[in-house]
Amino acid sequence: MNDLSLFPTLAARLARQERIRLAKARVPVALLADDVPGGGEVDRDGCALVDILVENGRIAAITPALADGGEDAVALDGRHVWPLLIDAHAHLDKGHTMGRAPDSGGTHPGARAATTADRLAHWNADDLLRRMEFALATADAHGVAAIRTHLDSHEGQAEITWSAFAETRERWKGCITLQAAGLVPLDAYRDDYGTRLADIVAVHGGLLGGVTRASGGTHGSGLDDIDLLLDRLFALAKERELDVDLHVDEAAQADALPHVARAAIRHGYEGRVTCGHCCSLALLGEQELRDTIALIADAGLSIITLPTVNMYLQDRENGRTPRWRGVTPVQELQAAGIPVAAAGDNCRDPFFAYGDHDMLDTWRQAVRILHLDHPYGDAPALAGPAPAGIMGIDAGTIGVGRPADLMILEAWSLDQVIARPHSDRVLLRKGIFAKRTLPSYSMLTDFQTA
Ligand SMILES: [Zn+2]
Repeated sequence: MNDLSLFPTLAARLARQERIRLAKARVPVALLADDVPGGGEVDRDGCALVDILVENGRIAAITPALADGGEDAVALDGRHVWPLLIDAHAHLDKGHTMGRAPDSGGTHPGARAATTADRLAHWNADDLLRRMEFALATADAHGVAAIRTHLDSHEGQAEITWSAFAETRERWKGCITLQAAGLVPLDAYRDDYGTRLADIVAVHGGLLGGVTRASGGTHGSGLDDIDLLLDRLFALAKERELDVDLHVDEAAQADALPHVARAAIRHGYEGRVTCGHCCSLALLGEQELRDTIALIADAGLSIITLPTVNMYLQDRENGRTPRWRGVTPVQELQAAGIPVAAAGDNCRDPFFAYGDHDMLDTWRQAVRILHLDHPYGDAPALAGPAPAGIMGIDAGTIGVGRPADLMILEAWSLDQVIARPHSDRVLLRKGIFAKRTLPSYSMLTDFQTA
């Protein structure tokens, strides 16, 4: 029988800020901040059955599930309860330009050209604010707690975009935590503009970033002085105490990652550098892959896999079915103890025509694409504690003392979590039932082609 009573029950009980016990909640152990409470049962998926006591918007206690839950209980009867999730790699400035930007043909060079045309024609403050707002309202409705976005920071654009981002970050404070990294082709650090960009990033408390290819070029060629450019980037970051987040080797054949790792070691930046994509790792020979992974571990790099966008862009040729899907070797990286997160990347723009800022959807796809099942192990960590660790924020897990930012799913097992989109998920923000509606595409009607 489909239990339709959960929704109104929760809404009625949790609309009032009272002490409440979420009774018999099923939480993946990978998403618990602390150990499973003593004597708690763990199911075959690696999920614990617990009672979660919420008081004044925070989690006051997590205990093994009681038989009756107690008087203050909302009976979840073993449904999955997850923390709100974290998207550690997005592009809020590019998003929701489908229908307005020129058609990209679905390729990486086409996407670059289409984005440049759209940026030069449209990216003023109003346009950026409006599209970022649409993106965040969407992410909010899906239960996203935090986003790190990259911001195209070309000369003449950076000030406009970073100001719009700062305004957006302020508006969403207390609901979605926002971070940003400045994104430019690596050769932008060859001249004085690199210094100006580092200053803009520092003013806004961002991260210094870049993509390991030349302006207008492709990954894997055209950066003969990559070590010099990385030295310049790391020196600028170090002078301003900025962390670094780079787009690396988003292609079948490219070899910037070892250069980034060695630069991180040279500059004492172990533990402060995130690398997104790293697709070409997947095509290395076994020994070279092992050596590169050992170097990544030595350099303390964190890796973010962006599986939906890599599958969209990699190995695309008109009239030919892709033979290679271009995703990062996540399991091998994890086995070496390297922090790895999954993230959404582009959303309805020339680099990826689809997406909806839904980290649960990104995670569900990541598990299937990367074979992170049989067993699931700590796969849920990819969308919670792993990106939280990379962003350095206190979120993405369920723990005593933390805000009761939770999502309740109509699912009793991880295969059920993964099988459906869970559009009916119930969100709690600070312990209160959060009724959210996705913003309508009609808000962007004037973007559509006639
Ligand atoms: Zn990206």
